[in-house]
Amino acid sequence: MSSNLTAYIALFSTSGVINLYLCMYVFFRRHQYTNIAYYFMLYTVSISIYCFGSALGLTATTLSGLKFWNTILYIGMPASATLGLLFAMKYLGMKIKAAWALPLLSISAITCVMVATNDFHNLHYKVFEIDPVLGAPFVVQEIGPWYIFHGILTFSSMFVAFLLMLSRWRETARVYRAQLLFLLIGQFIPMVTAFIYLLGFTPPGIDPVPMVLWFTSLLYVWSINTTRMFAVVPIAKDAIFNSINDGVVVLDDTHQLIEFNQSFKGMFPLIHRSMYGMNFNQVWQELVDEPFPLTLDASSVTSEINLESFPIPYIYQIRMLPLQHANNQKGMLLIFTEVSELKRLQRELENRAYYDELTQLYNRRAFFEKGELDLILAKEDELPYSLILFDVDHFKKVNDRFGHDVGDLLLKHVADVCKSQLEESSIFARYGGEEFVIGLKDKTGSEAEKVAERLRLKLESSPLVLPEQAITVTVSSGVAEAQAHTEETLHQLLKKSDEALYVAKRQGRNQVQMYRENVG
Ligand code: GH3
Ligand code: MG
Ligand code: MG
Repeated sequence: MSSNLTAYIALFSTSGVINLYLCMYVFFRRHQYTNIAYYFMLYTVSISIYCFGSALGLTATTLSGLKFWNTILYIGMPASATLGLLFAMKYLGMKIKAAWALPLLSISAITCVMVATNDFHNLHYKVFEIDPVLGAPFVVQEIGPWYIFHGILTFSSMFVAFLLMLSRWRETARVYRAQLLFLLIGQFIPMVTAFIYLLGFTPPGIDPVPMVLWFTSLLYVWSINTTRMFAVVPIAKDAIFNSINDGVVVLDDTHQLIEFNQSFKGMFPLIHRSMYGMNFNQVWQELVDEPFPLTLDASSVTSEINLESFPIPYIYQIRMLPLQHANNQKGMLLIFTEVSELKRLQRELENRAYYDELTQLYNRRAFFEKGELDLILAKEDELPYSLILFDVDHFKKVNDRFGHDVGDLLLKHVADVCKSQLEESSIFARYGGEEFVIGLKDKTGSEAEKVAERLRLKLESSPLVLPEQAITVTVSSGVAEAQAHTEETLHQLLKKSDEALYVAKRQGRNQVQMYRENVG
């Protein structure tokens, strides 16, 4: 046997052994892996059969021996191309449909049968003879139509698998790129070798592909051991990543977009894979047409952003988390949670807790909360603080005469007229029924008295105009000023205003009364 032949046999066998090792390795760990492991096992077994068949074919000395090992080789070879494609698709998280995968595998099986039965039809090889010059195991072969069909199919499978992997390069996170690169090389080398062989540029009579398979198999061994290829396959990661309801964006250390999930795409439909590698500030500008409002800083922060300009206003909570890759490369995770509905409910609850439904003024509770604070601040700053408490005159009669609904309209009317006369800083609240209270910051008693008088006059001259009649109501007010340098509470001040209001009522209504000691 020539030394060349021995070298070929050694190379073929090495490829076969490595693939068998790969298959066993994954077999014993299959429980840790996703079902991609089964595709890989079938793939490596088919390569092993192909390699061992080729190796043993080179030991044959008779034509029948050559034909036998060639048939064995063909159990593995066509299947390996198809299984390689299926494995690549599974790895990339693509759906494998039985409707085309099964016919493809069936054609591989038919090819094997065609080779085994070639003597009866000569469709695969027109001629398959021992080389008269070189002798066994070298053969002279003339290819038939099925050979061409199978050749095209095998090469196409390898080429498609390669292209699919290549097309995912950009969108594959950097941590998985080493894996993808190994797989790409693993696909590329035998594909090119097969192509050169099909063109007839290799030594005649020997298929060179099994010779290179040992190298690509070694890449797989390395890939499995160093990057845990199947344990954390991108597909599993993608499934988790995309099942999160929050929008998630991954940036690298220079704030370039590396990945985004389905939820983020749902929130910002303009995001596209072509934006990978773009600075996130620029990405954001394209998504919502305004600058990203937060500074991209890898220290963990939570902020809220309002997108008023979006088709409907959205409020997002954004969490920024630092990411530390294994190779110490820093990245960043942005998590977007849509909180618009939560905020709306929060506002509604706040509204109900603080506002009077009929007049939309503050309610008694809000008045005490805000008024007490204002009173404390006024005392601290030695500023005056006064209260006006007013009550609609003869309101019972209004209700009796015009009905409760008109009474309601009148209360709203009183609130609106007074509100238009007051400064923003004053706290205007419905104290209860047809009684209202106003807390005035920085106003002395006499200044508050003037405000109350202005309100009284305004109301007197502003009837509520209804289709059938115009109704005028008047109010009586009691005014009291907080005493400086005392512990007087808002309740005590309110009691004083109430006493003054009582005087105003007693003295004929439609008037303002200032609280004075011992007036009651
Ligand atoms: P005065 O204050 O001048 O002494 O006479 P008044 O008729 O206003 O007397 P009172 O304060 O005793 O009566 C208040 C009335 O206001 C009684 C109640 O039916 C009516 N009222 C209280 N709250 C509402 C309300 O929300 N809507 C309507 N329509 N009426 C209300
Ligand atoms: Mg009244
Ligand atoms: Mg009253």
